[in-house]
Amino acid sequence: MRLARIAHPQGFAFVEIRGDVDDPGSAVCAEIDQHPFGEPTFTGREWPLGEVRLLAPILPPKVVCIGKNYAEHAAEMGTEAPEQPLIFLKPSTAVVGPGNDIVYPPSSDRVDHEAELAVVIGRPCKDVPASRAKDVILGYTIANDVTARDQQAADGQWSRAKGYDSFCPLGPWIVTDLDPAGIDVRATLHHADGTSELRQDGSTSQFIHTIGEIIAYISKVMTLLPGDVILTGTPAGIGPMVPGDEIEVEIEGIGSLRNPVVAG
Ligand code: MG
Repeated sequence: MRLARIAHPQGFAFVEIRGDVDDPGSAVCAEIDQHPFGEPTFTGREWPLGEVRLLAPILPPKVVCIGKNYAEHAAEMGTEAPEQPLIFLKPSTAVVGPGNDIVYPPSSDRVDHEAELAVVIGRPCKDVPASRAKDVILGYTIANDVTARDQQAADGQWSRAKGYDSFCPLGPWIVTDLDPAGIDVRATLHHADGTSELRQDGSTSQFIHTIGEIIAYISKVMTLLPGDVILTGTPAGIGPMVPGDEIEVEIEGIGSLRNPVVAG
């Protein structure tokens, strides 16, 4: 099932997208009654995908991120791979949807993309054993853990560097029946002159800590709530973007998340 949040001519809705998303004229958004958690029920209202605007598929209570979960990325940062998951938070106010601007803060000289698989939590949970992690997952979407790299180094902790408004693009939808093992995670930077660069090309098979281990570790610290999003770390190849670029993150089995970069 593909779950999304849309702006339609009468307002906003959680929907299931049915049909071929590559053909927005035929794919349909079926409105979910209230919220997408548990077994959704439907109101009967529908809109063609081509006539709605996709929003961030969830407004998360919190966004928990894993740092350095791919060995080659830890190495490019000049650090060892952590023995335990390294966790930090992004504020929920950093979340934007597909196509929304990433706003380059005037206080930074270097803003990077980080392509990441995002896990969306489906139920309240605490102290989840790794073997039961599947039971608390609603589905998976695409994230970009946008980072003011110069401020990450300067501050010694990451709240400012990772926390600017618009620094957490999410979307375009949540896939509930994805097998996240061994799927490709890519970032392509499209420049204003029409050229493109493949920057990141990794696979979740390179995870240092599995999704089960990550959920077990985080949920020992904090209660996870329906809609919480966990960013699972980025593969090697992080690099700077400049205003005028458009960054595209693609994850196999989910789709593509594109966001323009604009000057703040
Ligand atoms: Mg990251």
